[in-house]
Order: sequence, then structure tokens, then C-alpha cells
Amino acid sequence: MSKTNDEKNITFMPDLAHVFPLPVRAVPEPWEDLASLLSRTAEQMGYKYVQWLLRPEDGAYGRRDLDVCFLLQDKTYQYLGHLLQLSEEALYKLTLHRFLLQMLAPVEMQATPSGYRERPLFPLLGSAMRKLFPSQLAARVCPRCLAEEPPCGVLYWNFGPVFSCLKHHIFLVDCCPHCQGKIPRLRSVLTHCPRCSSGDYRLAPAVNLPEQPLFLSSQAMILGHLGVEEEYLGGVPTVYGESPLHGLLSWQYFLLLKSFLNVLGPFFPNHPVLRTVAGPFIPSGRRISSTLPVSLAEWASFMLTFHTLFASWPDNFIVLLESLPAVCSSTSANAGPQHQFGKLYKEYLYKHLRDPAFAFLREAFEDYLMKHYTRGWVSPRLRPFSGKDRMEISTELTYLTLTKAMQLLGVGEPRLLALINRGVIRAHRSPIGAKGKISLWLIEKADVEALFEEWKNLLSLEAIALVHLGVSKQQVLALSKAGLLLPTSGPSIDRNLGWYYKSDEIERFKSALLQYACKAVTSASKYIPLSTSAKSIELPLIEILKEILSGHLGIFDTQREIPLFQRLVLSVSEVKRFLAERRKVERSDLNLLSARDVMETLGVGEATLRKWVRQGVLVGKRQVVNNRIQGILFQKEVVDAFRCTYVFAKEAAELLDVTSSAIYRYASIGILHPIGATKLKLFLREEVKALIPPHKLSIRQAAVLLEMSVSNLYALVEEGHIPMYDLLNVQKRNGCSIQM
Ligand SMILES: [Zn+2]
Ligand SMILES: [Zn+2]
Repeated sequence: MSKTNDEKNITFMPDLAHVFPLPVRAVPEPWEDLASLLSRTAEQMGYKYVQWLLRPEDGAYGRRDLDVCFLLQDKTYQYLGHLLQLSEEALYKLTLHRFLLQMLAPVEMQATPSGYRERPLFPLLGSAMRKLFPSQLAARVCPRCLAEEPPCGVLYWNFGPVFSCLKHHIFLVDCCPHCQGKIPRLRSVLTHCPRCSSGDYRLAPAVNLPEQPLFLSSQAMILGHLGVEEEYLGGVPTVYGESPLHGLLSWQYFLLLKSFLNVLGPFFPNHPVLRTVAGPFIPSGRRISSTLPVSLAEWASFMLTFHTLFASWPDNFIVLLESLPAVCSSTSANAGPQHQFGKLYKEYLYKHLRDPAFAFLREAFEDYLMKHYTRGWVSPRLRPFSGKDRMEISTELTYLTLTKAMQLLGVGEPRLLALINRGVIRAHRSPIGAKGKISLWLIEKADVEALFEEWKNLLSLEAIALVHLGVSKQQVLALSKAGLLLPTSGPSIDRNLGWYYKSDEIERFKSALLQYACKAVTSASKYIPLSTSAKSIELPLIEILKEILSGHLGIFDTQREIPLFQRLVLSVSEVKRFLAERRKVERSDLNLLSARDVMETLGVGEATLRKWVRQGVLVGKRQVVNNRIQGILFQKEVVDAFRCTYVFAKEAAELLDVTSSAIYRYASIGILHPIGATKLKLFLREEVKALIPPHKLSIRQAAVLLEMSVSNLYALVEEGHIPMYDLLNVQKRNGCSIQM
């Protein structure tokens, strides 16, 4: 046992046989502290200094003032008990040790000590519990209480978290209104400042308590737990609203309070997590580099914050958890709950607060880690999950690591990152390490699972090519490239190595194509499947589909349960029609005519056309169009020029208004000169036209003009009324022209 101030003073304890009880003694008031009783006794004895009571005349004892409210030594108790004629119990009740019974956990209860002292004492100075007693020597007072008779100090005013007098509804005062000096606990006159001699504590300005129910009830609750009777609570209820604090026993409440004094310590003096109240002014410069509440205002802030944490549980506690890493991060740059929640994690949740009464804290903490924690990886190595296996944790977790997500989806990192970039998977990234070069990824588990489910229903390129469409993989890719079939996953989409399609998409494509198909299929031999039609149609499959979808090519549905492009067929005749149509369009685009077109236009047979080409009368050439040889083709201009240059016998006859045989006769006698050696005679249009003399009409034309019949006209001609010009100088009915 180390030496304490108290013990040092007791070393020279006088022999009780030579100590006489004081002749005039004060009777302790309820909740009065020993320092106050000593002061009042000294005053009644007429002592100038209260210390005289503790310093017998030999002066050997008490070089320093005793922390009389924290007496530890049996001998001191015996001495003071004898001097003041108080029982051990009465004396004990005047000390702060009285609160220990409210704070001791059942397991900490020790057997009643033998000897004089029967009740437990707080352990040595400096113990964690003593943090609740901020000062050993300074007192706090209620100016109004002190003004009442008899003026006395109250034991619980020395308890840090009690900073108000509920009876008078004001904050306690901890300094002299005159010199601002601290109030010594052991002072000769209770109402006056021994430092300046003129300061009267009763005149200190009273600061009213704020009317916040939670704030007021926090004071009532702590007094209640200290064992203070209701009559001292000023009518303030000890509970307010819903809070897990309400279910705690006194020792549990104090254990929690003491723990959070350390948890909230790093937030002092002015982190936003702390709740503040309008209260006593915090003197500047009073704060040393302590992380614990020092002033009355800070104690008020601590108590309100502490009680707020448990109000609307666990929302405010989660706010604290969110804020802790920032104030604890200076201790370690590492991520992970073990580094980011400081003492709350390391010392309290699973150690000092392991009692089942605090399970609500652990539950809220674990729930937070699982669902909302975004700063580090949560694993079974962590204390909160030590009882659970990896599987259990991963089913409860909200987040996955990069590695875990890759495992689940069976993908590599580039692909996972591509999925994150595309927003398919939500992820949180936080830099870790001192330089922040390394990132910690936390990936939304729900997204990964949803994607996994979706992928289960995806079809591979192979499956679509082989089973669904019955074409090659390249053809499926060509369909995708043309936008006819949209993949869900692939190299250019999410860096997947393969291509994958939703089955819905395949169904959509199928039904879209089937809409264009006619169902009446007669004889199978006259059809070719769409899958092999590319060769016949001389077009890639994708172009064939475009022709089908634009209505230029008709298809049939065999309605067989086979891959789509084998089920759909083209009729041979439709293919031929389509090809002919297509080539015509191609030629007309180039102003070319096929031999067939030319034969149709000119009304000649193939043999005649061949001869003309051979003789050079009509120029035709073998031509390649769209990489296909299309036989002999003729420029449209050439054909048009041919029609202008040449006339057939029949046309010549019409031009001259004679019979065809007359034309042949003209040719045989050299009036007209047929071109080419074909059966079908061709004549130069110019030569034929030249035969018609200027200002001449044919018999027929003259008859129309004169509005008479041809026979009447002939009669007039024969009678010599109308002069006639004979082409052959032969009097022939059919070969005459009328002189105009
Ligand atoms: Zn008071
Ligand atoms: Zn003073």
C-alpha cells in the first residue's frame, strides 16, 4: 500500500488516551460533509482556524491539510470519532466513502473488515473512480443553501457530476465572487472566502438551471443513485423519456458514467458531439491540457451529453460511433474498429462493461459495425464477433471487402472495379495509412448478391449461338454490334472476358423476329433455313435480318422447337425474287441495264441482242457490281442512244405511213439501207425521216386534215384536183404523199 497524504498526516497520531472530546460539538446535518462539520465545530469552539481541530497542541501532525472527506486511515477515524463523539457510522456518512456502497458491484463487495471500521472505503487516490471526484481540496457550494441556517457544506456537492442545487434550481458555485479563488473544502468560516477574507459565497450570482427536462432529470437521477432522498430533488423526476439507463442499478449506472467519462474525454473541451447548456461561464485559462471535464459548465455538458447518448436509443449513440474515429485517429492510422473506437472498444464494451446489463450497448455497436460502419473491415477476429463463424458474419454484414466480393462473383479486380465504376455495385472507399495511398474498399453486400442472382440467369455467348439461335458465335456478336441483341455483360461493358445476355433479351429478340414470319410453310424442300441463307442471298446474316426487319424479304416460321435461325426459313422463290429485285436496284443505282432489261425494252430476243453486241451496234460489257459478276450490262445512255439512232422496219413503216412490206421493198431496191445482219432489220432513223419530203402529207394525214375518207381523197387525186408526190414514182396507193 503506497503512502497517501492522509496516511502521512496520521503518522504522528496522538495517543487517544490523551485526547479529550471537544466540549462544544456541532450535530451533523443530513448530507453534511465532514469538512463542514469540522468548520462549524471550530466556529463554535471559537477557534480561529479549523485546522486547530486536526492539529493538537504538540503541532506534530498535519503539515498539510487533510482531504477530510476522503479519510482512509482507521486511526484517523478513531481520533475524529473520539474528538467529535461520533459513531463510526455517523462519521462514515460524513465522508465521500458513503457513496461507495451505491457504486460497488456485487462482485466487488468484500467481507466486512474486522476492527473499528465496518464499511468499505474507496481505494487509493488516483483510482478510476476518483475521476468522479474532481478535486480533493476544493469545494462547490450553493449560495442559497449556504444562506440558510445553519450554513453547511453538502457531501454530494463534492461529486463531480452533481453541479446544481435542485432545491434552489441553480448551478453550484466553485469560486469566490470577489477574488475568483477556489473554495477550500476545509475553511474556518463556511460562508466566507479565507483567501481574500472579503468574499461572501452567499452573494455569488446565482445562475438558473436551464428548463430542459432531460438535463434536469439527469441531475435528479444521479442524486437518486447516490441515495439522496426525494425531498432534496426539488420535485424533478429522476427519469425522463425512454432510455436504457432507466433499467440500470445504481452501481451499473455509475460504472457506465465512469466509462463514458473516458470515452467522451477526447471530445473535450468543445467537440460538436458534446451537448452544451447555457450555464456558468467557463473561466479562460482554467483548462489545463486535461481531457476530462474540469469546470462546472463542462460537467454540465458531460452529464447532458451522457444522458443524451441514451435518449432515442441508439440514434445518438451511432452519432458518437461515427464521430469517434476522428478523435481517436491520432492514436493509429490503421483502419478497423479496434483502432477507431478507442477506449470504448478496447476497454469498455467487452471488458469493464461486460456485465449483461450493458448488452444493449454491444448490440447497438455490433449492429452498427454490420450495417453502417464504413471505415474498416469487420472480421471474426474482432471481439464483437468472436463467437461467430465467418459464414455467420458474412450473412449479417452489410459490407464486403474487395477480395470477398471478387470471390463471391468469381471475377478479377479489374472487372469488379469496372462494375463499381458503372454504378452496378455501390462501394465506399476510404484511404488508410499515414499517406493515404492505400484504399480500403467496402462494397455493398446487397448489390453484390443482387448481381450474383442476376448473373445466374445470364446466358453465355456459346449458349445463345448453339441453343437459342443456331448460328455461330461470330454471328451473335455481329447481332450485338448491330444493336439487334443487347448483351448485359462483356469486355467493353464491365471488362468481363466473355459476353453474357439476359434471357429476357433473347426472348425479346425472338418474338420481334417471329412477328415478321409467315406461318404457312408447304413443302420443306423449297425452303432454306435462315442460318444458312447467307450464301444463297450473298449477304451477311446481319444484312439479311435488316432486310427482313425492313420488310424487303419475307420469312416463314416452321414453328418447330429448334434454334430460332433454323426454325425460320426462306422460300427459294422468295430468295430469287429478292435477288432479282436487289440486283435491279443495284444496276439502276449505276444506270446499268441487264441484257434482259434491254431485251424487254427493245422487244428483241437474246440471239438478236447477242448479234448486235457482236457487231458493235449496241455496246454492252461484262460488269462486276458489288463484287458480283452480273453478266453483260448496258449503260442506260447507250441503250437510249441506240433507240434514237435506229428504228425497226415496223417503226419505219409507221414513220412513213406505209406497210412493213413496203419498207422491205424500199430496202431491196436501195431506197433504205438496213444495218446489221440480223433477221430483224434496223434502219437509221435519220435515213427514214429523210425520205419524207418537206411540206408533204401522207394520204392518211391529208384525209384527216380534210375530214374526208381515204377513198374520197383518192378519187379527188385521180380526178387531178390534188397533186400527189410518189416516193417510188410508182402509182401505188400505199406509197403516195399528197403535195401541200
Ligand atoms: Zn441550494
Ligand atoms: Zn475570495
